[in-house]
Amino acid sequence: MSVPISQMWTVAAYVLGKKLRGVKRYPLVLMLEPLFRCNLACAGCGKIQQPTNVLRDELSPGACFQAVDECEAPIVSIPGGEPLMHSRIAEIVAGLVARKKYIYLCTNALKLEESLDKFTPSKYLAFSVHMDGPREEHDHAVCRDGVYDVAARAITAAKHHGFRVTTNTTLYAGVDPARIRGFFDEMMALGVEGMMVSPGYSYSKAPDQDHFLARQQTIDLFRQILLPGKRRWRFNQTPLFLKYLQGDFHLECTPWGNPTYNLFGWQRPCYLIDEGYCKSFRELMETTAWQEYGRASGNEKCQDCMVHCGYEPSAVAATFGSWRGFLQTVQWQLGFQGTPSNRANLTNPTCDGASENNTSNTSNKRRVRLPVLK
Ligand code: SF4
Ligand code: SF4
Repeated sequence: MSVPISQMWTVAAYVLGKKLRGVKRYPLVLMLEPLFRCNLACAGCGKIQQPTNVLRDELSPGACFQAVDECEAPIVSIPGGEPLMHSRIAEIVAGLVARKKYIYLCTNALKLEESLDKFTPSKYLAFSVHMDGPREEHDHAVCRDGVYDVAARAITAAKHHGFRVTTNTTLYAGVDPARIRGFFDEMMALGVEGMMVSPGYSYSKAPDQDHFLARQQTIDLFRQILLPGKRRWRFNQTPLFLKYLQGDFHLECTPWGNPTYNLFGWQRPCYLIDEGYCKSFRELMETTAWQEYGRASGNEKCQDCMVHCGYEPSAVAATFGSWRGFLQTVQWQLGFQGTPSNRANLTNPTCDGASENNTSNTSNKRRVRLPVLK
């Protein structure tokens, strides 16, 4: 089981409740960034380039609680920077657990083992450990040798202390699909509850600009990694999102699904692009020109983006908010998967037979037919 039943039920009830009330835009996961400071300097990071005074600053627990209460999302992800460097992170987590929020505390794990005593195991708290592939690839991605081994030890220790532990993996151009498959096996052997995987977003501030994946590269890579067949991997993600990454299910970005709150306020429009800040969550929802974002908008910054924070909420909404999405999820969960041969030359995959630029195309219709159950 990649997430507790109670969490799944909470999310399903939340999405269905919004659907029944006719609410079109709602948050699912609050990205709460309580600081930008970090003890690593990864080449693909777009968060740690803030000036020193900002890197020294951090959100107070009160500010975090106010954001969480305003937003009302059932899940709170705490990225950064490195949240375990926040001076009052245990207080923040305890306050969120008391609010019955499902928390993913994202960490590079360098301080995880020494910090475990500050926290109490709970179904509401999962440590989401940053692991960008097997040892060599991960240490290369985080620009420091030995980090993979520290993180693997910390995962074991956290599991031993009764904590929920997941991993989050960002993939870049040039990775070997076979080695990533082996890495997933390693994470399963370590006993992680579920894995979250995403292509990296091409942050303009990131020092390494050569290894971000374009859209078709992402699809090709994930098709090679997630080959059909028996495997024992548990993903902390919807099957629809994983199918989207392989070009087998069309989703549009729902940036309001993962709103971001940090030292500057509510970031417009998403965790990845910074186009100004709002003072309140309501202002963010009501004054953002959402139609200017997402691939269909034509916005250049969105054309290659297939990142989880834009598309996982879309996948969750499709899973619990539509019969087609739900049935497709059930079919994939039961193992009725498409084969690589019926998706050849698929460059603009869709779910409904219309190509992404809305032109009619019969070959696309054939490709996206639901798997035939025999
Ligand atoms: S661990 Fe995360 S926050 Fe820290 S430098 Fe790396 S990507 Fe950035
Ligand atoms: S497509 Fe990506 S970059 Fe564009 S709004 Fe969505 S999440 Fe942000």
